[in-house]
Amino acid sequence: MESEIIKIVKETPTNKYCCLSAEKIKKTNIVFEERVFLKCLTCQKYNQKWTCPPNIPNLNYRKAISEYDYRLLVYNKVEFNKETFIDVRRMSSRELHKNLLSLENYLWNNGFFLATSFIGGSCKFCDGDCSKNFCRYPTKSRIPIEALGINIVKTAKNIGLDIKFPVDKIFYRIGLLLW
Ligand code: SF4
Repeated sequence: MESEIIKIVKETPTNKYCCLSAEKIKKTNIVFEERVFLKCLTCQKYNQKWTCPPNIPNLNYRKAISEYDYRLLVYNKVEFNKETFIDVRRMSSRELHKNLLSLENYLWNNGFFLATSFIGGSCKFCDGDCSKNFCRYPTKSRIPIEALGINIVKTAKNIGLDIKFPVDKIFYRIGLLLW
């Protein structure tokens, strides 16, 4: 099933800025660090989204993720320049989110009823208009992978992606698909 999902990912049409890929990752190669939560505290989206800290459940995410049999990092490699950066940043996040939901749906239809995913960046399902009172789309909104305390730079390195900051000409939007 992992190879089947990777094939679907490779055949998924994307826009001209994004290139969608997927790689298997062992649970021991997903790097959790407490200090990642400190970055959430200084993020512009802190307490601004229903799927960002402090609004997410206080679960043991390392344990929850280790309970799944299969894990894929699904990611967009995104080209940008000064003029396109703001647009492609938003677009790449939404596109990854949409593709992860569609992969989850495929898994659901193949009997993996606990399949789920974590997105790259905060939820932009409502295009910058996150509801003040409740999540409008609880079945579609997803938690960003970073909000679980995953050091995505170190984790990506374990599948061969070398992410450096500040970004230059390309950046990655990385999510996690579990089933
Ligand atoms: S689906 Fe909409 S309301 Fe819910 S977290 Fe995402 S942006 Fe906010």
